[in-house]
Amino acid sequence: MTEEVFDVMVVGSCMTDLVSQAPRLPKAGETIHGHKFFIGFGGKGANQCIQAARLGAKTAMVCKVGKDFFGDNYIQNFKDNVVHTDFVEQSSDSATGAASIFVNSAGENAIVIVAGANMLLSSKELQKALPAISHAKVLVCQLEINPQTSLQALHMAQENKVKTIFNPAPAIPDLDPAFYRVSDVFCCNESEAELLTGSSVANIEEAHWACQELLKRGCTTVIITLGSQGCVVLKEQGSTPKHVPTNAVTAVDTTGAGDSFIGALAFYMAHYPTMPLEEMAHRANQVAEVSVQAVGTQTSFPFKKDLPVELF
Ligand code: ADP
Repeated sequence: MTEEVFDVMVVGSCMTDLVSQAPRLPKAGETIHGHKFFIGFGGKGANQCIQAARLGAKTAMVCKVGKDFFGDNYIQNFKDNVVHTDFVEQSSDSATGAASIFVNSAGENAIVIVAGANMLLSSKELQKALPAISHAKVLVCQLEINPQTSLQALHMAQENKVKTIFNPAPAIPDLDPAFYRVSDVFCCNESEAELLTGSSVANIEEAHWACQELLKRGCTTVIITLGSQGCVVLKEQGSTPKHVPTNAVTAVDTTGAGDSFIGALAFYMAHYPTMPLEEMAHRANQVAEVSVQAVGTQTSFPFKKDLPVELF
């Protein structure tokens, strides 16, 4: 049987965001009235996969949700975004990952994340997905599932010469050094770079230094995203890191900007494998820049039709 070839496969998380807006955050033991409630789709893995799909990549998600309403709903969300769901497993042993988010009128929030079924994704599901992983063009992983599952998926990809993007988010201080060696592109934001290097990454110069430090640990290339300042890219040991700026835009909600950037990067790596990394980063900046100009996470991610033709 010929295996289906996916441009982008993501092994990662799905989370349902349950967002309540209220004048203030409740205290312990208190019940207060809010004025707005909505459910959003999140989870870094799913976000990145959906951004890649919206740009036109043929995508598949490898993840675990609960056998519950939120799990069913998330699977429908993948289908609505033309993401292949054969490797989305449903478990009766845990609920779909959820983030309960309270937002006050000042925009401050209090969040409880329950990773739930995400933590049950294991080598069993990876083995089922291996034939597809081994033929994919790009594999993307993060750290919202069991880190050993992410590491195993990255190893599987590397053994099959599949390009890898590793996004060490949320960052953990004692990251297994093996992650660097399985990352073709190691892509993180300023705060993750700071935690991993133990040094401040508050400006472009410091990001240059952090790129060099992370590259020394064994990855092929490093990208550090810098919010409104775009990103810094380092291709090889001994070369100079390159700052890739964004356009100045009015940001209304930067939630998920990093995921939009990584999803776009995965799309460019799959579709234009010979394109210089700086050019891919330049284009991914422009996709993420659109996402910060609309409210929400996946709701703000642009589709191919919303973007300038020069990006394709
Ligand atoms: P994260 O969401 O992980 O914190 P960043 O804040 O670094 O990631 O943002 C990721 C990317 O999103 C940036 O590299 C940039 O391309 C884009 N971006 C984020 N904030 C802005 C902004 N205010 N204006 C324009 N682009 C932005």
